Amino acid sequence: MNADNQGPDAGFPKEGRIPVDDFEEYTFRAPRPGFFAGDLPKNPLPCPQFELERIKKKAIQNSNADDSPRSRIFTLPVEILCAIFIQLDICSLLTLARLDFSPPDALHLLQILQDWHVFAKIAAFPKLLAVASALECRHWTIGTIFDVIQDERCVMCGYFGDILDLMTPERRCFRCFIHDDIIRMQSLESISKLQKCSEDSIEQPEEQRSTLLKMLEENIPVIRLIEGNYGGDGDGIARSRHQMFDMIALKTKFPTEFREPEDNWSVRSRLQYATSIRAPFYDMETLSYKEGYFCRACAAQGWTHRSPSSSRTYSMCVDEVHEKAPTWGLPYRRYSREGMKNHVNQYGGVFKIEWSIGEHRNWKMEDKEMRYIHGADFERWVCDEPRTLRLIWPLLVRLRNKQTELPEGATFVSKWYQVRDTNPVFNKEKW
Ligand SMILES: [Zn+2]
Ligand SMILES: [Zn+2]
Repeated sequence: MNADNQGPDAGFPKEGRIPVDDFEEYTFRAPRPGFFAGDLPKNPLPCPQFELERIKKKAIQNSNADDSPRSRIFTLPVEILCAIFIQLDICSLLTLARLDFSPPDALHLLQILQDWHVFAKIAAFPKLLAVASALECRHWTIGTIFDVIQDERCVMCGYFGDILDLMTPERRCFRCFIHDDIIRMQSLESISKLQKCSEDSIEQPEEQRSTLLKMLEENIPVIRLIEGNYGGDGDGIARSRHQMFDMIALKTKFPTEFREPEDNWSVRSRLQYATSIRAPFYDMETLSYKEGYFCRACAAQGWTHRSPSSSRTYSMCVDEVHEKAPTWGLPYRRYSREGMKNHVNQYGGVFKIEWSIGEHRNWKMEDKEMRYIHGADFERWVCDEPRTLRLIWPLLVRLRNKQTELPEGATFVSKWYQVRDTNPVFNKEKW
């Protein structure tokens, strides 16, 4: 135990600790602030699941009357067909399902998709089919996205990655997502301005543009942005559907041909949200997708702690945000069920204690509060600034204290940013 981190001032009483073994009690759910692709109802997305059902119904209606010849592809065994499908991208597979096959073939194809565990997992992943087909993601296969949704880890830090970038595709955790300062994508216009030696070209500007477009489309991933509001507070607006190109792939493939793009934080932050969706993990206990859990012990940090050398309290999310707070895990980290088990193994089981600020230094407060702590001592002091969470801190406190519960996968609405201590109005739309 480090005397700077623990002790009579910053530590918790050893007596009167009540162990909490109930997973539902020491965790809570809270949505992420911000608008990701497909989050706002005013930007309706196509619904491939619904469309597939419609195709199936139509095929069933026509199946008796139809005697058109069977397509040769469907004489192949199901295993071979699935081995082909896994190499396709989502758009191509959906296009295949929309083709005008004879009713028996259409039914056969839809039955294969319905029974195929890979497609079933992808179709059940919230918003994935709809957003991937709206963004026109054609550069990764069904097999790749299946691996990404199965592997719940953030590609940058290894914790649960609850945000899925559909350009790459990769999972990232919220912390890595909001602290990411890499420019990941650009529009064609931004790239063409950066192209070196374009003034030496004998091509006209329009020709240069189409040459560049062709070269980019053939070589690096591209998506087509969905119009709408994006970003931490929804003020990033994509006014038109336009192509965005993967700058990481561009730099890797053509390391010397393009200048570094100019940094524009607001555009960058908005675009990250516009190509990402909120990503749950597959919970083997409930056999369904879950958005993840916050730790109540860790989330309580920051407002009842104080410095070992003074009587000041520290908060992660109000005015003293630049101060350091002692920590086990980050207060705003979201865990999968497995990740929470590892977290408890690392920092010790969770205990409930009665905690009074008045017992320390000159602080006088009669009321005691219940709070949750880990069994292990603090490991370190962190300084972090989750700006987007600061805006909704009162709501997070209510969720942490289980005074409010939100539907699984609920999205934030902008009104929440103005809500202080009243009941938040929330969007009941699921996923
Ligand atoms: Zn991470
Ligand atoms: Zn914790």
